[in-house]
Amino acid sequence: MQIRRLKLTGFKSFVEPTDLRIEPGLTGIVGPNGCGKSNLLEAIRWVMGESSPKSMRGGGMDDVIFAGTATRPARDFAEVSLFAVQPPGAVIPAVELGADGEMEVVRRIERGAGSAYRANGRDVRAKDISLVFADAATGPHSPALVSQGKIAAVIAAKPAERRAMLEEAAGIAGLHVRRKDAEQKLKASAQNLARLDDILAEMD
Ligand code: ATP
Repeated sequence: MQIRRLKLTGFKSFVEPTDLRIEPGLTGIVGPNGCGKSNLLEAIRWVMGESSPKSMRGGGMDDVIFAGTATRPARDFAEVSLFAVQPPGAVIPAVELGADGEMEVVRRIERGAGSAYRANGRDVRAKDISLVFADAATGPHSPALVSQGKIAAVIAAKPAERRAMLEEAAGIAGLHVRRKDAEQKLKASAQNLARLDDILAEMD
């Protein structure tokens, strides 16, 4: 998956609408300490479906919303849009893609009201978003998004955690989610069948 553009409004220190184009090749972000470099990486992880406020360096998810300064009031919402191109894959896409596999994913959070997602203009579930990124071998926990302290965490990871990282890199994490879904549906169907047997037995 190729990320082409990132738009932020009210996300952490990015209070004003900010539009960043990510051209092919190497992109570097430079700036003084505290200017928001890590916030940009966090915006990418957040729009991909990150659900842990702790990994966003916050106490609650509302902490990603601009909290205000001495001269500017806090905002009531934050929104991040990510434009990416999804290469053709073997699995059925979890969200409807545009021409040439184009995709715009938007996550918006309102203070006190939680997050909502849109993909190419349609409302979608958080689960659809996590599947679309998992199928593309990426997502909020992708080893390709290396935040401070991540290298040490990879070295210290347990074998099962390392396996999960390899599976994610291989793009099969989404298949695990689908398998779990299918198993739950099978279980529900088996329960319904058993109930039907009971009813039939009562009628005999
Ligand atoms: P360093 O080079 O030191 O790692 P950085 O450029 O990566 O710094 P970040 O850690 O991305 O900087 O940004 C930190 C800044 O973001 C701090 O000034 C902090 O006050 C600001 N910030 C974080 N969350 C919010 C928020 N919800 N509202 C307003 N500002 C915020």
